[in-house]
Formats: sequence, structure tokens, C-alpha cells
Amino acid sequence: MKTIERKSLLYKSGVEYADFCLNHVEGCSHGCKYPCYAYMMKKRCGVIKTYDEWCEPKIVSNALDLLDKEIPKYKGKIKYVHLCFSTDPFMYNQEQVCDLSLKIIEKLNLNEIRCTGLTKGIFPKELGKRNGFSRNNEYGITLVSLDENFRKEFEPNAAPFESRIRALEYLHEKGFKTWVSMEPYPTPNLINQDLKSLLKALSFVDKIIFGRLNYNAKSSEFKYTKEFYNSLALSVIAFCKKNKIDYHIKQGTQN
Ligand code: SF4
Repeated sequence: MKTIERKSLLYKSGVEYADFCLNHVEGCSHGCKYPCYAYMMKKRCGVIKTYDEWCEPKIVSNALDLLDKEIPKYKGKIKYVHLCFSTDPFMYNQEQVCDLSLKIIEKLNLNEIRCTGLTKGIFPKELGKRNGFSRNNEYGITLVSLDENFRKEFEPNAAPFESRIRALEYLHEKGFKTWVSMEPYPTPNLINQDLKSLLKALSFVDKIIFGRLNYNAKSSEFKYTKEFYNSLALSVIAFCKKNKIDYHIKQGTQN
């Protein structure tokens, strides 16, 4: 795998529900075609030139050294560190990325810093060990459908939905807090599906985040976007209240 060096790693996130964050890989082999917001931003800034380049991840070779320098600097300010917003920490079939993510989480936990991880890959079983500070970590998957044909079209190299769910369920059974990010949820002109079956498949999680799809030309042709997302957001809220699950409806999803 190609490598790059960075000058810094930890940063305070501007995302509405997050704290500190890090991205220890440039690019992501999952190659999501919603499109991927991180890819769009990197392309706009000229960091990445093409989709193929984005799909060939480069690991940050000095990530662990940077953490050694930055942890003492930020430790008092960090509530938790999220992996990741601009790449995927457990990229499917990318062993080197997964190994580095495990090392980063271990280092942060040894410094009594809690981690959260979000993936469209498969969480490794190693994360199931609840030693020391690691017991405070929280894990989530992104899941917007149960249809594998849709997954192959929109998340071509990400993990199959079923394996994603089973790996998250394993961590739930080990006592970790888990969540699902149902975002970006597709409009019916991309796939006609039943949100209820998706909610049912994820009913073991502690929290559901629901958000609309943006920046997709075909989706924006759908005439009843506002009504559609309003109705689905209400269904998510009702399901979560009934099943005592926390929820967060992303800004701009519900009017
Ligand atoms: S998994 Fe996330 S970072 Fe990777 S391509 Fe998909 S949306 Fe982008």
C-alpha cells in the first residue's frame, strides 16, 4: 500500500455531534457513489485528482508518531476521538488499514482517551476485548439498505450488509455501545425499500442517526423529497421511542 506523511493528525471536528477526530488514511477503497463527500472535498482542493486515485488508499506512515506528540498537547480537551470522517478505519479487505486503526485505538485507550469508530467495513473481533479504558469505546456502522444489488452499485467495495451487521452485533453482545448511521438514506427513485425492515435488523443498537441524501443528481429529481424525509424521520423517531433507542435526525432532513 502507498504511504504519505502528515504534519498533524488530531483535530477538533466541526461536525454537529462530534468532538476530536483523526484520518490516518488518504482515500478510501470503498469508493461510494452517493457521492462520497470526503472525495468531493479532496477533489475540489486538488488533493485527489481522480476517482481511481481516491479508491487507492494511502496510509499515513507517521500516524503513531504524530499521536505520541499530540496526545499530551490535547489530552485535557478531548472527550473522545472519532475514527474517521474522511476515510474508513476498517476498510473492507484492507488489512494494513485495519491494523493501523487497531494500533491507534489501543494507543488512545492506553492514554485514557475514549474512541468511537464508524465503518462500512467489518469490525475486527479484537475490538471485543474490554480491557481497561477500551470498555468505553463505541462502534457504529453506516447502513442505508439491506439490498445487496443497491450496495454493489452505491458502495461497490464496501462490506456486504449482513457481515457489517453481524460484526456490530458481536460488539453489542460484548457489552459495547453501538449505533447505526442511516445516512445518506436514498430516495425511492434510487431504491424502493421498506425502512421498517432496516430498523428491525438494527433494533439491537443504542442509537440511530438518520439523514437525507444530498448532492445526488438522480435523487434530486424526486418530487416529494421533503414529504418523504419528513415521514421517514417520524417513523425513525417513533421506532426509537418504542424501543428505547437514542436517535439523532441530521440537520436538513426534517422540516
Ligand atoms: S466509506 Fe465513507 S469515506 Fe469511504 S468512500 Fe464511502 S463515504 Fe467515502
